[in-house]
Amino acid sequence: LVELRGVNKHFGDLHVLRDINLSVDRGEVVVVIGPSGSGKSTLCRTINRLETIDAGTIRLDGQPLPAEGRALARLRADVGMVFQAFNLFAHKSVLQNVTLGPTRAKGVRKSEAEKLAMELLDRVGVADQAAKLPAQLSGGQQQRVAIARALAMKPKVMLFDEPTSALDPEMIKEVLDVMIDLAKDGMTMMVITHEMGFARRAANRVIFMDAGSIVEEATPEEFFTNARSDRARDFLSKIL
Ligand code: ATP
Ligand code: MG
Repeated sequence: LVELRGVNKHFGDLHVLRDINLSVDRGEVVVVIGPSGSGKSTLCRTINRLETIDAGTIRLDGQPLPAEGRALARLRADVGMVFQAFNLFAHKSVLQNVTLGPTRAKGVRKSEAEKLAMELLDRVGVADQAAKLPAQLSGGQQQRVAIARALAMKPKVMLFDEPTSALDPEMIKEVLDVMIDLAKDGMTMMVITHEMGFARRAANRVIFMDAGSIVEEATPEEFFTNARSDRARDFLSKIL
């Protein structure tokens, strides 16, 4: 579903993505881990073209990523993204946060968008918060709203960039549980996270990045018990 071939990117002199080859199949859950600055977020952002690339190709559903215009807007709808900071619209209600994308970008009727939004808010366990403003919710609730908002666009793939790293411990589980449910439902997902419990339970594959390269690719079981590279073992010894 997502295919990167020979992807390279620089920020000035910094070679931030080096010859990245990576495929994510339909229904697959890929967890990306690696040290700070290794290029994980940049990799994620290239897939919905929040970042351009210098060389290589990225395909979604067999099609090269569009550069601009309506096709780019459609791509952004197809690639849902959830960030560390929840990025909800502060002056809109929870419900409006979820209906805005479908009504504005896809021309869905308001009543229909609201019906879908309530279903999604129910699915992530915050339907009772629909009328509130984001600031009136806990961090975990806000992040679940952010997930519902992304799902409202009916994406083909969901990208998560450290979705729980800004949350208090007791809220991490409620967000991870929603993500595990999504994975079980067959959503294609790429998840940057150091939550090993999530990786073990939901990931088909773990990708370890260091200094802009994919250093290792393995099943969670293999990776956590028997990482092949020194760099991965060194990293794991610091976070486990
Ligand atoms: P973290 O775990 O801290 O989130 P990361 O693996 O997500 O790290 P990236 O955010 O992808 O790393 O950044 C990779 C490198 O690119 C870092 O050295 C970062 O400083 C640099 N970088 C990221 N964005 C930009 C930018 N817009 N301009 C210049 N350099 C950037
Ligand atoms: Mg990052």
